[in-house]
Amino acid sequence: MQGIDNKQYALSEFFENKNRLRCPECGCLLDPYYRSLRIDFKSKFDFSTTYDNVDIVSKRFKDFIQLEDYRNVVFFPVNENNEFFYFHILNNPVQVNVEKSGIKYKEKCNTCLYPKEIIGGFDIFLNQEEPLLDCFYTSDVYWRTHNMFGYRIFIGIETYNKLHAQKFKGLDLAAKVF
Ligand SMILES: [Zn+2]
Repeated sequence: MQGIDNKQYALSEFFENKNRLRCPECGCLLDPYYRSLRIDFKSKFDFSTTYDNVDIVSKRFKDFIQLEDYRNVVFFPVNENNEFFYFHILNNPVQVNVEKSGIKYKEKCNTCLYPKEIIGGFDIFLNQEEPLLDCFYTSDVYWRTHNMFGYRIFIGIETYNKLHAQKFKGLDLAAKVF
């Protein structure tokens, strides 16, 4: 699943003010604790993703997920309005079949050792064949977008059915996974 493109950057201010947290050679974000950052954010969507790969959800989405008691998902308020929240999945990776998904890692940065570019992965194949249980999962590989590394999100079929029934705006449940 994925969020609709909300055509905003989450971290522009962060990048301006805290350049020391970026790799001096390739510019990639080295500090994952940006979620304490307060940003100006408005959206008509329940689930959307910024250019720099940050998932942001509405209070309605957060309340539903918390009511369903998914334990490995956390929310951080984007500001004091209590309307939108950074959405983050805690360590629950599924193995992506890198070769079959056509994912290629280009040249590594000499300083931070992260790949400077990652290509492919439009259609994603997983290594496991049995269906995922009712939960949120992340890919075990990361994509690089605007110098942010981000995972892809996977969900179980039951999770899919629950989210689908809620008709959340901006949430694309049909992202291609095989
Ligand atoms: Zn680097």
